[in-house]
Amino acid sequence: MTGRQGSAQDAPAGIRFDGVSVSYGGTPVLDSFDLTVRPGEVMALLGPSGSGKTTALRTVAGFVTPSSGRVFLGDRDVTELPPYRRGIGMVVQQYALFPHLRVADNVAFGLRAQKVPRREIGARVAEALDMTGMTGLARRYPRELSGGQQQRVAIARALAVRPGVLLLDEPLSALDVQLRSGMLAELGRLHRELPDVPVLYVTHDQVEAMTLADRIAVMDGGRIQDCGTPQELYRRPRTEFTASFVGHANLLRVTVRETAADGAVVATLAGTRIRATAAGGGRPVPGAGAVLCVRPHLVALGPGPNVLRGTVAEVQWRGPTHRILVDTAGGRVTADVRELREAPAVGADAEVHFAPEDAVLLPAPADEPAAREPAAAGAAAGVAHG
Ligand code: ADP
Repeated sequence: MTGRQGSAQDAPAGIRFDGVSVSYGGTPVLDSFDLTVRPGEVMALLGPSGSGKTTALRTVAGFVTPSSGRVFLGDRDVTELPPYRRGIGMVVQQYALFPHLRVADNVAFGLRAQKVPRREIGARVAEALDMTGMTGLARRYPRELSGGQQQRVAIARALAVRPGVLLLDEPLSALDVQLRSGMLAELGRLHRELPDVPVLYVTHDQVEAMTLADRIAVMDGGRIQDCGTPQELYRRPRTEFTASFVGHANLLRVTVRETAADGAVVATLAGTRIRATAAGGGRPVPGAGAVLCVRPHLVALGPGPNVLRGTVAEVQWRGPTHRILVDTAGGRVTADVRELREAPAVGADAEVHFAPEDAVLLPAPADEPAAREPAAAGAAAGVAHG
């Protein structure tokens, strides 16, 4: 056996959840969960606390048994396999190093458990320490290391077993902000050294997910709400939940009026007629409520298409941009404006606008009534007012 794959398989293998459900004491935590992580792909599970991310990861590790559904690593159905036979490497938030073992022995631990020959253990430990930049600290004890160094040891320990699959559960959340961005870059580099290994990365931090992941599965309530590349989810979220969880978003209640000949959707926002693009190629129904999503950096000050009028509520200087909050009849709009010579005064009248292709129309939550609007006829006059 050569290469970095574990003893369990030769060919690069992905991870596949097939209708996996998990309940604790009768409460469903994962609900018919389907997801495929391709060989070499970094998939982030992103969602708020309690959304089921760790549970999903632990079903791959083998620490949680699904009540229904199967887990596959490549072609192997591993649902019934014990954790130590799955060929996984796992890193958790709290490092979980053995305090009485030196760094090198911590890294060797999984290899000894796997009964790897002694000669080989030394070489594999050296390789893993080298990959994580910890070679010089091999004889220290965990208490003699900083948090960042301890986390490197935990990563080295996961890599030493040459895992077929890497599972990372909030691996950076115990580190301070500066260390975190350095480690994030390092995780990216490490993954490039393991081009076939799929990585499942659990986080509630959108920056980590967007920086590291090839794709992000956005989770809420034990289900995947949306899944796509970071760019797709940012530019074309399919749900309001994704829009608010991945990046900052203006989310405004509108009423759908019609689909124009050019495919743009015409909607009204507190009586103002605007043109937008339906999320995911959907066909919004006239009269239905919807949510308009526009990213703040795509909102400009002054007149233009889709203009909304209002009053400046707040101005924040943020170095390269000004964040301007404008209260319009349809709600507060945030604009991140670059190279503004003179910021408007708080309380001044203001206009904001955005391009129809930058405005994504999302379905309204199922239990929400349509936004109350002036009569459609008045709105259809096509004149912006606010
Ligand atoms: P996340 O990782 O997204 O924060 P988890 O998967 O840890 O979410 O948890 C999902 C839900 O399952 C939470 O409501 C949590 O309280 C519950 N839960 C997790 N583990 C257990 C357990 N061992 N026993 C009972 N409930 C659990």
